Amino acid sequence: MVLALNDLLFEPEENWREEAACSGSDNDFFFPVGEDESAIAPAKAICAVCPVRDECLQYALATNQSEGVWGGLSGPERRRLRRRLRDRQRRAS
Ligand code: SF4
Repeated sequence: MVLALNDLLFEPEENWREEAACSGSDNDFFFPVGEDESAIAPAKAICAVCPVRDECLQYALATNQSEGVWGGLSGPERRRLRRRLRDRQRRAS
């Protein structure tokens, strides 16, 4: 059986946000003007200790969030991850 990428990218249960380490944080940390490493470092530091990091990343991938830091990854990093997942899926089929 071959799974489609969308089968791998499911939207997690809605209540994952209740445990988000970024709850109450400045939104500008997560959606900085630029996405260079220094701009996104504060958000990544918060994500690094977040108990729902996996759920957050899964949500961002499943819903095609293109901007900001989600699950500890920037938009470009999520695009690269999505490409790797797609490549792996192609090789498996
Ligand atoms: S992983 Fe980062 S952006 Fe996602 S909920 Fe946790 S702290 Fe917030």
